[in-house]
Amino acid sequence: MWPPSSMDVMNYIKGEWVKTNNVKPVMSPYSGEVCGNVHFANSELVDQAIDAAELAQKQWEQIPLKARTQVLLSFREELLKNLEEISHIIAFESGKTPAEANAGLMKGIEVLEYAASLQNADVGGKLEVSRGVFCEYRRKALGVVASITPFNFPAMVPMWSIPTSIALGNAYIWKPSEKTPLTAKFIADAFDRAGLPKGVLTVLHGQKDVVESIIDNPKTKALAFVGSSPVAKALYQRATNLGKRALCLGGAKNHIILLPDADLEVTGQGISDSFTGCAGQRCMAASVLLAVGDVDKHIERIRERASSQKLGETMGAIITKDQLEFLHQAIGRAEEEGAKIVLDGRKASPPKNFAGGFWIGPTILDHVKPGSEAASKELFGPILSIVRCENLSEALKIQNSSPYGNAASIFTSSGPLAERVAQNTECGMFGVNIGVPVPREPFSFAGVKESKFGHGEITGEGSLDFWSDKRKITTKWEMQNDSNWMS
Ligand code: NAD
Repeated sequence: MWPPSSMDVMNYIKGEWVKTNNVKPVMSPYSGEVCGNVHFANSELVDQAIDAAELAQKQWEQIPLKARTQVLLSFREELLKNLEEISHIIAFESGKTPAEANAGLMKGIEVLEYAASLQNADVGGKLEVSRGVFCEYRRKALGVVASITPFNFPAMVPMWSIPTSIALGNAYIWKPSEKTPLTAKFIADAFDRAGLPKGVLTVLHGQKDVVESIIDNPKTKALAFVGSSPVAKALYQRATNLGKRALCLGGAKNHIILLPDADLEVTGQGISDSFTGCAGQRCMAASVLLAVGDVDKHIERIRERASSQKLGETMGAIITKDQLEFLHQAIGRAEEEGAKIVLDGRKASPPKNFAGGFWIGPTILDHVKPGSEAASKELFGPILSIVRCENLSEALKIQNSSPYGNAASIFTSSGPLAERVAQNTECGMFGVNIGVPVPREPFSFAGVKESKFGHGEITGEGSLDFWSDKRKITTKWEMQNDSNWMS
């Protein structure tokens, strides 16, 4: 049903939905109106939930990996059966289009498939290290682990880590964004129908105080955080000061280098879709275009495609009224600083049926000064800042001076130049003629610099060592005639 009906979402503890007295409204970016209510937890409820999760985890890790992953496969069926319903909930609370919500969910399902495949792929390793002596690896769950997720991918980001961490035998405490808490109800209910034992997945709602109670509880062994850089950094420090394992992914300011020899169609589509997709509210969105030499015809193609976006149909809304106002002001400040507005999203018309929502169209700012707000700060909206560069070296220098290091791309038809930039760019994920270079499983997802605090990666092979310990077991059953110091 579109739009979906209003929902009340509570805390999911030991398989039960638990109400509290601290209930907050959830606003839809589409309508600007209340689309649900969320019950915030407090520190006592957090501690009760973690106690229950600890008990559930002890039994869950006794179940063999092959049986644990069967639950994931049933959960996958639940999602696929209800794709439209869940996509509509995600879209209405986060501002995405239903098609974007569906795409995010499918990426989450891809990670789930990777986690389910561990039953066949993660066979450990065993070697006869000297005659009659064997060394082997066995993965051990950490225990109770926690994850704090952002508003912009209410299903995909949690599904980067829920399937893998529970497949490895952990119990998972999830604190969704208070701006987009409704999707969590659907996910927890789907896990329940899939047969996940009660307490293995817990959902707790709230803000800073709830997050800190989750991290500070001595039973919480690891923290995965995804959100803005200042919060990522603070929570990384908090968790690691307590001796916990932490991986905290932060914000981004992704640069794209455009060279004059780039293919016109590939460039127009790739760059336009990158900064307009999810209304620019994704950590992989193109944000700064480093235009090297004469690329005016490419910029015109990007502008043409971006200006064909239809709000409410092909492009979604901004998460809050405050953020919408911030974007308006940031465009104004860029103009005052000398940027030329090539496409002005402030003038775009909102969709008729959702006129009260938080809408802005694609915006292209040209001749933006390096170091200015539009060129260096994460704005998190559909704004492309074009910085003109004399040559490739200047472009690379500007790109590498960014404190962030999530994604970067180059658009060119020159293999050697693309290779040079791939080698010399300070980023975690690089694209050649790709506007949103998200690695597909089993390649891991993560940035560097201020886009990631901690070691390891949140998806793919890199995530296995984050969510488990490798126990090393050395075995000998009988004396050998030729024993030496190694046996
Ligand atoms: P946010 O940092 O405001 O919030 C993220 C989560 O942290 C939410 O659950 C929120 O309740 C909680 N939180 C907020 N302030 C807190 C505090 N002071 N102490 C403890 N917890 C706190 O981020 P957001 O606005 O929800 O999401 C957008 C940001 O996330 C952008 O910066 C975007 O680039 C980033 N992001 C990064 C990735 C990545 O993979 N690197 C992916 C998605 C989003």
